[in-house]
Amino acid sequence: MFALKRELKLNNKEASRLAGCAGYSRFVYNYGLSIIQDSWAFDDVQASDAKRLGAIKKVFTNVTKKRPEFAWCNEYPSRIYQNAFRDLSAAFSRWRNPKLSAAMPKFKYKRHECSFTVDSSSGSVLVAAGKSIKVPTLGTFRLKEAIPYNCISQTFTIAREAGKWYISFMVKACPLPAMKHTGQATGIDLGVKTFATLANGESIDSPASLKKAKTKLRRTQWKHRNKIQGNRKLKQRASQNALKYYQRLRKQHKHIANIREDFLQKVTTELGKTWQRIAIEDLNLSGMIANHKLAEAISTLGFYRFRELLTYKQAYHGFELTIVDRWFPSSKTCSNCGHKQPMPLKERIYHCGSCGHSIDRDHNAAINILNWPNTPTLPMAIGI
Ligand SMILES: [Zn+2]
Repeated sequence: MFALKRELKLNNKEASRLAGCAGYSRFVYNYGLSIIQDSWAFDDVQASDAKRLGAIKKVFTNVTKKRPEFAWCNEYPSRIYQNAFRDLSAAFSRWRNPKLSAAMPKFKYKRHECSFTVDSSSGSVLVAAGKSIKVPTLGTFRLKEAIPYNCISQTFTIAREAGKWYISFMVKACPLPAMKHTGQATGIDLGVKTFATLANGESIDSPASLKKAKTKLRRTQWKHRNKIQGNRKLKQRASQNALKYYQRLRKQHKHIANIREDFLQKVTTELGKTWQRIAIEDLNLSGMIANHKLAEAISTLGFYRFRELLTYKQAYHGFELTIVDRWFPSSKTCSNCGHKQPMPLKERIYHCGSCGHSIDRDHNAAINILNWPNTPTLPMAIGI
């Protein structure tokens, strides 16, 4: 399974209808959350979150929705409120799960959250290839970019991000692309200077447009450093210019995210097409975040997203992805003789103290990652 996301091409009428749907979803979510919180005040009631939410949903369906002041609820498809309750229930189970350390569900605000989910109550539906999409209970919408093939899905989420509307859904089944089986393998070292270095010495740089967009964002932020955002407690209201500025800021952040996502998608597709066994290092995120420069690179370049994309693309093609143990000293080991020596971050060339081998730091690490001795010898999945 993987997700597809497309921008919707809407007229004003459609956009306000979707904003209304998102408003309805937010209303139901907050309704459920406020009642469940009130119910905690009664200590004598012993019931799980799921039971409480089930009861609240029944009250909403049979009592609240039928009251004349809530008649507007019936203008929207019922799948919206069903899914809002499902989201709330999922948020509660995440919060109760000690392994996830998720925060307690919070109320949704109009300016932060503008999304909702609908699904087809009769199971999966066909999503036809092309430049429009038929969404269960909502009708057909035009798309900015076509869906490449017929696929099957059940649940659709529509969200507004920086003023644009997007639809995303999980694809359950779609045709597999034909891939030749060549058995070629490589190791990849991710870095700050060069985004990725391959074991054959090839390197991939992050796009120049990303750096440019980031500089532009910093400039905008600096120019408006004294803008007051508004503060309810201090009874300050944001000025019209401040509101305009925040909208522009959202757009610039979205632009950066788009460049990065596009870059990562293209790089991982290309790598997945060429290499049938890829080895990458496990990301030692907590260790990397302790280092300022690396933390910046992780958030800007999206190392985590890179790994996520590569994982599903390799699995999708039936190819392999080896995750090398995070404690494996890939930078400190000589790829020629196996000698280990300390390598401070500023040293760009590995000069082996034992065999005299000289090689680019990242290239050396990529070769070591490829030749990691503990690689599990799994049989390769069946290729086409
Ligand atoms: Zn050596």
